Amino acid sequence: MKVMVTGGAGFIGSHLADALVSRGVDVTILDDLSTGRLENISHLLDRGTVRFVEGSVLDEALVRDLVRSMDRVFHLAAAVGVRRVVERPLESLLNNVSGAEIILRTSHEADVEKVVLFSSSEVYGKAADRPLKENDDSILGTSSISRWGYAASKAVDEFLAFAYHQEKGLPVVVVRCFNTCGPRQVGRYGMVIPRLVQQALRGEPLTVFGDGAQTRCFSYVGDVVRGVMMLADSRRTEGEVFNIGTDTEVTILELAERICAITKSDSLIEKIPYDKVYGQPFEDVRRRVPDLSKIQDYVGYEPEVDLDTLLTLAVEHIQREEAPSAPADRPEPTPLEEAI
Ligand code: NAD
Repeated sequence: MKVMVTGGAGFIGSHLADALVSRGVDVTILDDLSTGRLENISHLLDRGTVRFVEGSVLDEALVRDLVRSMDRVFHLAAAVGVRRVVERPLESLLNNVSGAEIILRTSHEADVEKVVLFSSSEVYGKAADRPLKENDDSILGTSSISRWGYAASKAVDEFLAFAYHQEKGLPVVVVRCFNTCGPRQVGRYGMVIPRLVQQALRGEPLTVFGDGAQTRCFSYVGDVVRGVMMLADSRRTEGEVFNIGTDTEVTILELAERICAITKSDSLIEKIPYDKVYGQPFEDVRRRVPDLSKIQDYVGYEPEVDLDTLLTLAVEHIQREEAPSAPADRPEPTPLEEAI
């Protein structure tokens, strides 16, 4: 089988590429390295079955040429991270919307057997204060607050995917990722776990945005990749959208405390108002919990890795990356990584 992973040098995409390679699949990774890193995939590149193409999903001729020989396409390339989207809204919107449309159109033209489109829990916006079901209403904030642009762009991607499914028969499945974490995720685009872990390891104050009472559900990237593969393998999932993640909630304040405990750091925890962080009005979501019953019903997916294990893995990875003697491009797996 030949598979293309757009955004495959990024955090989730590189783990997905690992999983595909271990199945014996031929993998083509298309990535412009805007937030992705070659180190994430360098261990794969000397295999005859992995090809890396540095380029953009916005380059239609390139994408058409690559997609022509693919059986499946996993579309992850996107402008990701609240900070990046708030700081560069125009580039982010065009990247997410035009990129998805080019992938869907060229996949349809090439008769690709399955397209998996990565969406986000952000599409629920400020929706209800209870576990979110795929058919729940979305409540997005006003367009003058740029963080909602990311949610809107992912929602448009979903509409496009379903339109291609309905009108052109494209076999597409949409996955709405909730907070996904683990090794290779970086903190500089606003991702909370790597950012807090780095602060704890450096003995700096852990900066919690807002009052820290907002909750999130963090899932391990290996679990998410396993669930995505289950969805991709099933015919029943075509034309459907699925939440993927875990439903175990934690406040951001408690997350910071757990990171201090795991890293044995005595750093202080400092709360920072959102307008100081982003330099413009910002609305956060107090609670975001997935209802996982649909993915359980369709493919029997259950997350396995708990938060403390996930945090330990993230800490071990960042410690290895930050150690002066660590090989930059080929980190050995830790015993814990090998065990799960
Ligand atoms: P990431 O930034 O590590 O990965 C995105 C990758 O896409 C990067 O490698 C980047 O270089 C690449 N990219 C961006 N624009 C591109 C373009 N025009 N052409 C080619 N490559 C391009 O982020 P991630 O966390 O791995 O996210 C992967 C996908 O999962 C994204 O679609 C994101 O919206 C979705 N998602 C992630 C999370 C999460 O918690 N990590 C949550 C919800 C949704």
